[in-house]
Parts: sequence; structure tokens; C-alpha cells
Amino acid sequence: MIKKVLISGGAGFIGSHLCDFFINNGYIVWCLDNFLTSNKKNIEHLLKNKNFYLLEIDLIKLEENKIKEKFNFVLHFASPASPVDYLKYPIETLKVNSIGTEKMLNIALNSNAVFLFASTSEVYGDPLIPVQDENYWGNVNPIGPRSVYDEGKRYGEAITMAFFRKYKLNTKIIRIFNTYGPRMRLNDGRVIPNFIYNALNNKPLPIYGDGKQTRSFCYIDDLIEGIIKVLEVNYNLPINLGNPEEFMIIELAEKIEKIFGRKLGFEFLPPMPDDPRKRKPDITLAKKLLNWEPKIKLEEGLKKTIDYYLNLLSSVNH
Ligand code: UDP
Repeated sequence: MIKKVLISGGAGFIGSHLCDFFINNGYIVWCLDNFLTSNKKNIEHLLKNKNFYLLEIDLIKLEENKIKEKFNFVLHFASPASPVDYLKYPIETLKVNSIGTEKMLNIALNSNAVFLFASTSEVYGDPLIPVQDENYWGNVNPIGPRSVYDEGKRYGEAITMAFFRKYKLNTKIIRIFNTYGPRMRLNDGRVIPNFIYNALNNKPLPIYGDGKQTRSFCYIDDLIEGIIKVLEVNYNLPINLGNPEEFMIIELAEKIEKIFGRKLGFEFLPPMPDDPRKRKPDITLAKKLLNWEPKIKLEEGLKKTIDYYLNLLSSVNH
């Protein structure tokens, strides 16, 4: 029998790459999305595929008991994920990670599927330790503007673990660190697309705060490989997925300037509220369990991403 997968947020940046992976591997893919922060263009090439079904609906309104399909995998990726997006959609972000996670868990339970919750390094908040491993409980402001995402994801992890403990559902939790690559919206507000957007328009690169805060950037292809390995392994506690190579935001800006080969300049702006100062995953667990680690260097990934945007823009202009 052909295997079936349900992916919420399947038209989003990460979700659409997962749809591609499963279609290319012979699965029937159900993609659930309401296009709040995603883009139909990401899955347009799949719409005519006989194995691809688009369920265009707000997950919160889905009556999950009406879904009679049996899935092998249920993957919950629906959520605004960029700080700009979740500050704009605070209630939607809380709901999709709470009510939405419960609905996806119920679908998985009904199918006895493997369930995966896409969590985030944001559960660590503004970490008090330089490198974050899965045992760290985090330093999160529960009432700050970012809390809608951080606490939403923390609740999502809690209910996922509750289904694992109470119903013995085979659940997985991944904590995704900053990921980038083709299909991120150029205006989604995150640092890499935002820098590229400004560079393409010959504008200075906007840096929030002093630019000395750090992030560790993982290229999308590496992340997808990690996610698939998580589905295959017999382990139900959270797993960090990310690239441990850490850069200051100012260093990232310098790299982008170098790739564009011209002086763009930097514009220093006020810091974002509760902006984590440091973020670097400890991926010892993923290395051991999954025999996985990212392969694509930041420069190489940035070049691929810039090429994607250049192609996109030239196809729009022609
Ligand atoms: N940032 C920046 N300029 C931008 C966008 C973001 O300096 O145009 C900074 C932001 O303040 C943060 C880091 O880059 O310190 C990463 O931000 P992003 O929104 O990509 O993701 P986050 O890791 O904060 O969720």
C-alpha cells in the first residue's frame, strides 16, 4: 500500500520542501495550509500531481473527526515562524501551536501514525548558557511580545509529550534552529531574506541592536535530511536540529556584502524586544542518534539562496 503523510503548513518554507521529499519518494501527500504566512507558489508545481492533495483550511476550524484517511506520518509545521509574522499574528500563533497541535495529535492517534511536532530553539528563550542542549529548560519571558511563539511552542511540546505518555503515541519533537534557503518569503522579516532583499535593492543592511548577537544558520536541505532521520529513529524526546557554526549578525552582514561584491553599508536600528543574544545548538544527540550533521557551509547556502531569489525576480520580470 502507498504510504500517506499529512503535513500542516505544507505550503510554508520548510513544509513545502517536505512535500517535495515525500512526493519524490512515492508517498501520497496531504498538505494542509491556510496561506496565512505561506505561499501557494511553493507548492504550485505539485498541484497537478495525482498523489498530492491540498486541504486549504485553517487548522483551528478543522473538525478532525471528519478526517477518515489513515496516515503513516502526521507532521505539524503550521505556524507563523518569523518574529515579524508572529508579532503581527499573535493570537493565530498561540492557537495553531495549542489547539492546532491537539487536532494534529488526534488525527495521528486515529491513524496510529508517527507524529512530529516542529518546535524551535525559541523554547530556550534568551539562553543563559552559550550552547543549548536538549536538557536546558530555557530562559523565556512568558509575557513579552515573543512569548506568543515561545510559549506556544512550549505548550505544543507539552501536549505532544502528554499524548506520548498517556496514549503511547509515537511522537517526535524537533527543535529547529535558524534555517534558511529557497522559498523563504523575501519580505518575511528574518535576517537572511531581509539582508538579501536590501542588497538586491542596493540598500544598506538593517542591523537590530549592535549586531553582536549570534545565530547559527542551517541550510534547508540539511534540515530536511535531519527531519527524515528523526522520523525513522526510535526516540521520543526533543532533538535539536541546526547548524552549530555560530556567527554574529554583523559577520553575516559582511558575508552577504562580500557575495554581492559591493559596499552596501549597515544601518544600525534599535534592538528587537527580548532578542536572544546567543543561539548555537548542541547537536551531540542528533549526531549520535541520527548519524546526521549539516554539510552545507554558510557561504555556499547563501549563494544558493541568492541565486533562487535572482531566478525568481528574473522570471517575474519576463
Ligand atoms: N536581525 C537584524 N536585521 C534584520 C532581521 C533580523 O539584525 O533585518 C537580527 C535579529 O534582531 C536577530 C537575528 O538577526 O538578532 C535573527 O533574527 P531572525 O528574525 O532571522 O530570527 P530569530 O532568530 O530572531 O527568530
